[in-house]
Amino acid sequence: MLDRTEKRFGSRPEWLAADTAYGNAENLGWLVKQRSIVPFIPVIDKSERTDGTWSRPDFEWDEANDQYICPEGHALKQYRRNYSDANRGQDTGGRKKYRALKATCQACPSKDICCPKAEARYVTREPNEEAREFARAGRTTKASKVSRDKRKKVEMLFAHLKRILGLNRLHLRGPNGAKDECLLAAIAQNLQKLAKLRPQCAKPAATA
Ligand code: SF4
Repeated sequence: MLDRTEKRFGSRPEWLAADTAYGNAENLGWLVKQRSIVPFIPVIDKSERTDGTWSRPDFEWDEANDQYICPEGHALKQYRRNYSDANRGQDTGGRKKYRALKATCQACPSKDICCPKAEARYVTREPNEEAREFARAGRTTKASKVSRDKRKKVEMLFAHLKRILGLNRLHLRGPNGAKDECLLAAIAQNLQKLAKLRPQCAKPAATA
């Protein structure tokens, strides 16, 4: 869709707004790293814990040392030894696991709120986590609110087309039929909008 828009209209977006369906790691990584597009898209995140224990955002990412730092200041590492294979330790989905030392967690005063049922805590890091963090940070900005408002405006138009103008189902067959029907519906919608923009005629003065 991005390529088609660029080819046809010569337009490349600097940012994109979309709903959660587009918030997977692969899509966000592609948008941020390969297309340099700011995604105002909710991130799909299954790491959030609902039992009151600390979730991944409570752990600080230390990029330089490839490790997480827990709220008690201890390192969670993928391995404690150096391996020449950079992909070692990832699961098939490219997810990495960072573990704390068992002895450290066992003696930790915060164990009950961190990993009450496990011997030691681990957190996972998704592929394209940097892009996911970028998208999460973007959601707190003013620009994100602007994009959300604009997205709602567009979605309202689609909802109107479906519910009021009856475009939830096409009546004509084939791509050309669909094209004609969509075009007519868009014309009807634009005429409605245009009518609302027309200056209101002054009401005639009341006669005695
Ligand atoms: S339980 Fe382990 S990982 Fe959790 S805060 Fe304590 S030392 Fe850190």
